Amino acid sequence: MTPTLKPERPSGSPGATRREPLAGLPDWHTVLVVVAHPDDESFGLGAIIDAFVRRGSQVDVLCFTQGEASTLGASASLATIRADELQKAASALGARSTSLMRHPDGALRAVDTAQLDEEVAGAARDAGADGLLVFDDSGVTGHPDHIAATASAVRVGAALNVGVLAWTLSGSVAAQLRIETGVPFHGEPEDAVDISVVVDRTRQRVAIACHPSQAVPGSVLWRRLELQGDVELLRWLNHPSTPEEGA
Ligand SMILES: [Zn+2]
Repeated sequence: MTPTLKPERPSGSPGATRREPLAGLPDWHTVLVVVAHPDDESFGLGAIIDAFVRRGSQVDVLCFTQGEASTLGASASLATIRADELQKAASALGARSTSLMRHPDGALRAVDTAQLDEEVAGAARDAGADGLLVFDDSGVTGHPDHIAATASAVRVGAALNVGVLAWTLSGSVAAQLRIETGVPFHGEPEDAVDISVVVDRTRQRVAIACHPSQAVPGSVLWRRLELQGDVELLRWLNHPSTPEEGA
């Protein structure tokens, strides 16, 4: 469909005996991150983005909303504040570019899916993306905007035959967070996880600090990072097919 997007065979899956901590990540030259809110790229995906950047990937970020519906830091200028925070955080993570759409925060699923898909496909084409990085299709926290953003990336990934890799939590971390916070975190059983990487959270923490309106003391974020330790889990939502694989 789009000659600029070449399917990249994911590497590092079966039988990998390499001990290099980041060996499980696919060998993508360019990664398009697709998220719903400013801070998702840092709070959720920050350590994984950093891992891709340290592996030499170019990372571009597409964010669908300005996060204006947050109850934290509520003010008339919150959208502008959060747009600025996103820019700084993405840059701290080493992203090459950031595109911020202005869809309504909290109502992404009411937006025409064809429009969302067009934006993702356009960004993927512009970036020459080899793969898309997203939240798990559960939304991780269950937020409907997260689910809508990922659903769009999955449709586009399938249409363009590019991989879609999703950040997820272990079932046990999610269960613990549900008990402690009441937030409907969703995790995956071990056999549903495709890639486990050991990460360094230093740059993620710098990026998180670029979101002072949201990274408040007592936030669930801090407890989640504590429970996750230095491990991030990923699973394929779209595994690009290659001619040899048939099917
Ligand atoms: Zn979010």
